[in-house]
Amino acid sequence: MEVTINNIRKEFERFPALNDVSLKIASGELIALLGPSGSGKTTLLRLIAGLDFPTGGQIFFGDEDASHHSVQERNVGFVFQHYALFRHMTVAENIGFGLKVRPSSSRPPKSEIRRRVSDLLDMVQLGGLEKRYPNQLSGGQRQRVALARAMAIEPRILLLDEPFGALDAKVRKELRRWLREFHDRTGHTTVFVTHDQEEALELADRVVVMSQGKIEQVGSADDVYDRPGSPFVFSFIGESSHLPVEVKEKTVFFQGQPIGISEAAAGGGELFFRPEDISLVEAQDALFGKVTACRRLAGTRIAEIDIANDGHAPYHVEVEVPLHAPVALGSEVRFRPTRWKVFENA
Ligand code: ATP
Repeated sequence: MEVTINNIRKEFERFPALNDVSLKIASGELIALLGPSGSGKTTLLRLIAGLDFPTGGQIFFGDEDASHHSVQERNVGFVFQHYALFRHMTVAENIGFGLKVRPSSSRPPKSEIRRRVSDLLDMVQLGGLEKRYPNQLSGGQRQRVALARAMAIEPRILLLDEPFGALDAKVRKELRRWLREFHDRTGHTTVFVTHDQEEALELADRVVVMSQGKIEQVGSADDVYDRPGSPFVFSFIGESSHLPVEVKEKTVFFQGQPIGISEAAAGGGELFFRPEDISLVEAQDALFGKVTACRRLAGTRIAEIDIANDGHAPYHVEVEVPLHAPVALGSEVRFRPTRWKVFENA
């Protein structure tokens, strides 16, 4: 099911939680809504679900304007972070619940419900555990039951709000892979909310980066990491440093000095680069500063560097250096970004 979100606005007592949000989600796509706390991710998910209604704009399911349809009419499946399973029901009863409570006209016969529950148990790899109660399962198993329960009603789309948020890091990672495989097998259009960028980048076909009720960028993991479209996305995704620069005749100047890189746009702006995208140099036309800290990070070393700022607080940047590089504390290093982006001042 394709979902089209057109110019959605959502106000809570005049506070705009979402401001002119538009997004097209392709049928069968796995989409992550990623952003800091309060950026509007859950609000957008709830509007897609029909748990809440927009102040303005429309939401289409295929060609159908679903903006004012109820949750039942939309036929969506949900899994929330703390989506409590019914404690007094077994795993099988939990999964079959949504079918069992249907009005008799649309309720499948008991044997059909049993068959579907058994298929779903296999699908979420919990075959054999159907008679257990939720408190006899691990956190990861419980979330898989929640997912099977959401799928039982054959939803048109699947909505997940921080589904693995309450689980420990190792289980999260396992479930992440599992969800990707599950999605590829079932092909449901899926939207999930996360504030964990690793989860979003690893799992989603496309990531929707949100900030302050707006969409900052929509793209693949490579797009948002390698080609961030705004200072916010550059800073929010991965690690980065930034410095104020001037561009004159295609040369980038920092503190009035050329730093050995060129740029097409002219004028003042902010130079952004990632720690891994620098090289240490001997040349004079380069950035330079004093190493204030150095820490080992897996196969590399991260040096923290203070760049003097004419009596003001120094600029602070982080760069990745080879393990053997001479970066003793207090020493001066010269470096240039090898990949960067200058965002012009607004
Ligand atoms: P988090 O990661 O913390 O869950 P989020 O990105 O999901 O954040 P939302 O829950 O969508 O953010 O909230 C967006 C904004 O709308 C926040 O400023 C929040 O305080 C506000 N908001 C959300 N729900 C309501 C409500 N029912 N009444 C008033 N304000 C609300």
